[in-house]
Amino acid sequence: MKTALVSFSGGQDSTTCLFWALNHYDRVHTIGFDYGQKNHVELSCRKSILQKIYSQFPQYAEKLASDIVVNIRSFGQIAQSALTGNDQTMGEISENGLPNSFVPGRNLVFLTYAAARAYLINAQTIVAGMGQTDFSGYPDCRRNTMDALQNALTLGLDRSIEITTPLMFLTKAQTWELAEMLGGKTLVDFIVENTHTCYEGDHQHFHEWGYGCGGCPACQLREKGWKEYLARKKR
Ligand code: ZN
Repeated sequence: MKTALVSFSGGQDSTTCLFWALNHYDRVHTIGFDYGQKNHVELSCRKSILQKIYSQFPQYAEKLASDIVVNIRSFGQIAQSALTGNDQTMGEISENGLPNSFVPGRNLVFLTYAAARAYLINAQTIVAGMGQTDFSGYPDCRRNTMDALQNALTLGLDRSIEITTPLMFLTKAQTWELAEMLGGKTLVDFIVENTHTCYEGDHQHFHEWGYGCGGCPACQLREKGWKEYLARKKR
């Protein structure tokens, strides 16, 4: 029995990863993190996405297993960034050359928590939605960071833990294509309508590519990817 634990935030990338995992594993657990993010709305999106999978994609109902949201707000307290603070404008570049939405160590912490959970539920694989193609400049999204962490976790847990990143080398347009491949237009529409990516937590304004403010870096990336996806379809 192949069991996976998906790091699932309720965004486009991790929702695509969730469906990828449902296509590749026998049993799929999910984990999410509350680190005091501004876009707290994604946590309610993730809950409704999981509920809707049961009704709209009943073929996966049997595979979907436990879900847990871990409160790591203490981490948000020490790792201040524009994603967790209130006084910064999203998208500005900090002195170190990284976008100020970078939360130092975030993915390392997420994956270490996920590994502890994976150990407990006997999942051999953690599936996570990082990508380095439309790389926002986050060093903890790179595959070589994942390789090193995978080694550290395997050594530290004395059990083989794999970190699988199906989106690592895909552009945002290719991520939409992957969704289409996994579940056709039904899944693409589902992801447009139900996921949340906007850094500003705007879940009021709906665009053809989904909800968001339209101006923050996450919205811009999502819009650009969507337009490229449509353009590639026409060719
Ligand atoms: Zn936005």
